[in-house]
Amino acid sequence: MRVRGRFAPTPSGRMHLGNLLAALLAWLDARSNRGELVLRIEDLDTQRTSPEFARQLMDDLRWLGLDWDEGGLEPAYMQSRRTIWYEEAFQVLEEKGLIYPCYCTRSERMAATAPHRDDGAVVYSGKCYHLTALERAELERAGRRPAWRVRCPDLEVALEDGNCGRYAENLAHDCGDFIVRRSDGVFAYQLAVIVDDALMRVNHVVRGRDLLCSAPRQAWLYEVLGYEPPKFFHTPLLLAPDGRRLAKRDHDLDMGALRERYTAQELTGLLAFCAGLLDRPEKVTAGELISQFSWSKVPKNDVMICLS
Ligand code: GLU
Repeated sequence: MRVRGRFAPTPSGRMHLGNLLAALLAWLDARSNRGELVLRIEDLDTQRTSPEFARQLMDDLRWLGLDWDEGGLEPAYMQSRRTIWYEEAFQVLEEKGLIYPCYCTRSERMAATAPHRDDGAVVYSGKCYHLTALERAELERAGRRPAWRVRCPDLEVALEDGNCGRYAENLAHDCGDFIVRRSDGVFAYQLAVIVDDALMRVNHVVRGRDLLCSAPRQAWLYEVLGYEPPKFFHTPLLLAPDGRRLAKRDHDLDMGALRERYTAQELTGLLAFCAGLLDRPEKVTAGELISQFSWSKVPKNDVMICLS
C-alpha cells in the first residue's frame, strides 16, 4: 500500500526546532517511500490559533525545502471547518453507549483520587459516569455545562511503534475516560485527529514522542469507529541546551530566531544530526537526506541540541 503520511501542526505560534524535526521526519518517511504527504491545519481551538500562524508555518516549511501534496489553508484540511465529521463520529460513539457527560471542574478533576500518569496528566476517576439521571438534571439546572467523555474499557492496547518499539497501556487504568468534546462544544484533539487521519486515508502517523501516550486510546477509537489504524512513528523530542523541553512560548529557538541565525541548509543539517542521519551538523538539503533515511538511525529518546 502506498505510504500516505501527514504533518498536522497546531497554528498557535511560530514553530520551534522540535516541530521542525517532526516535520522533517514525516516528510522523509513519505518521500523515501515514494509516498504522499498531507498538511492538515489543527486549528480546532480557534481562540488559540490563527490563519496567520498557519501561513507563517507553511512559509517556514517551504523555506526549509519541505513540500506537501495536499492540504494547507483549504477548508477540507482545516479542523475548524470539519466539525460535521467529528459530529458524526461522536454520534456513533453515543449510539454505542460510550459517551457520558462530565460536570467536573478543573479543580474537581485534579482532586480526583485516581493516580497521575507518568506524563503528569490525571487519570480521570470516572466520577460522573456514576451520576444518576436525577443528579445530572440537578447539575444542568444549576447551569453547569458538561464536557463529554468516552468510557474506556479495562483493556490492554499494545502497538508496535515504528520508531519506539512496543508500547502498551491498559485504557481504564493508565488512560482513563477521556474528553472528546469540551463543555464549550469544541471537539477534542483525541477525536478529531483519528477522524481526520482515517478520512484522509493516512496510514503513517509521524509526530513527536509527547503524543506516544495518546496512541493506544487513538488505536482503540479507530477500531470502535470501524477504521483501519495507521502505523505510528514517534519522533524524539528536542531539549534545549539547559535541559528544558522546547515550547512555542520560548522564542529563542523558534523559526523567527532560527531563520535569522542559520541558512535552510545549515538548519536542515542540524536537524539531521539530531535525528541521527548525519555524523555531524553540516549543510544539507532535505532532498539529499532521502536516500540515507532509515528509522533505524533515529534515536528513541529525547535529544539535547547543541547549537553552533
Ligand atoms: N497538532 C498536534 C501538534 O501540533 C500534533 C497532532 C498529531 O500529530 O497527532 O502538536
